[in-house]
Amino acid sequence: MFHRVLKNYDEKNYYYQRQTGISWKKFIELLDTIEKKGWKTKPISALAKGYTHNDVFITFDDGYRDNICAFDELINRGMIATVYPVKDFVLDGFSPIDDMALHLMSTPNVPKDLSLSLLGGRLKRILRGITASRYRYLRQRLFGIDVDADSTHLFMQEHHLKLYNSQGIELGIHGCSHRAFTQLSPSELNKELTENYNWIRGLGCRESMSICFPHGKNNKKVIEQSQLFGLIHLGVDCETFYPSVLRRIHITEDYCG
Ligand SMILES: [Zn+2]
Repeated sequence: MFHRVLKNYDEKNYYYQRQTGISWKKFIELLDTIEKKGWKTKPISALAKGYTHNDVFITFDDGYRDNICAFDELINRGMIATVYPVKDFVLDGFSPIDDMALHLMSTPNVPKDLSLSLLGGRLKRILRGITASRYRYLRQRLFGIDVDADSTHLFMQEHHLKLYNSQGIELGIHGCSHRAFTQLSPSELNKELTENYNWIRGLGCRESMSICFPHGKNNKKVIEQSQLFGLIHLGVDCETFYPSVLRRIHITEDYCG
């Protein structure tokens, strides 16, 4: 499980602190290892036919634009991956959590407790369940910030996703708003899944779609409703309560397999 592939390692960078960033150097090391061991990369849809211990399933969450170089490298090596873009992030070029991250990194002397709360505490949990408009309202109320951080080049655009899908990079469902599915009403979740499914189809996806739960959050009702849109379900890197939800391995800078 990857999120961002960044040029250089920087321990102060939010994405490394959140363990959602990996350096280009490390990424290349991992691909070299896959090649040396003779492992085979496959798209997530191939899991429907089972797997062997020589198979590697690479996934990217959220559709960050720095994945472009990573995809080019994978394609040059004849490798495959699956990306889970977020519809609103791609269309609006805006994500509440990333906006918070960019503000956090550009503001000097942020109090430590506030920084920790945004990185993994109460404020982070709140961000998982709110819309972009609610986020902007709270950002103004709590921090007096009424401008968006510059996220112009943070996410891929539709034409990128279409191009890479045509070159073998698989697309999957990861929500429209990236809110945790467990915090949505059944009708909100149905709308989110339907819109997301149709959007991914429109980008060229012809395979049966897999679903990567935003923030890994799921429960029995969410799983049942999601099964109407895809039968392979992915969580994050922790024990999953429901065996049908596949655990992913969080690949960080210090990962050594
Ligand atoms: Zn995500």
